[in-house]
Amino acid sequence: MLEMRPTCENCNKALPNDSDEAMVCTFECTFCTTCVETILHNVCPNCGGGFEKRPTRPVNCLTGNCVEKYPVGTRVVHKPIDKGTFQEVLEFLKKIDPRKR
Ligand SMILES: [Zn+2]
Ligand SMILES: [Zn+2]
Repeated sequence: MLEMRPTCENCNKALPNDSDEAMVCTFECTFCTTCVETILHNVCPNCGGGFEKRPTRPVNCLTGNCVEKYPVGTRVVHKPIDKGTFQEVLEFLKKIDPRKR
């Protein structure tokens, strides 16, 4: 189950459950769409993988599985990228399709 982290790891922008801007990698590193598009170029600085849009946990509890029963995470991970360290990873990986990295 996704942790549903509350903020962008790079810029600390709030990314609540209903945000349309939350992007995650397979390790659930979480960034906003602006950082993913303009800074990360769809390369996760922690694992090198690509991002996909994070779904919203349902508020309607018809199935019993909803945000009321499984609340979103509150643990803030704020680790702004080190541009120097990231540059080498970025240059290598951004040319490779995320499905092939
Ligand atoms: Zn951001
Ligand atoms: Zn990652």
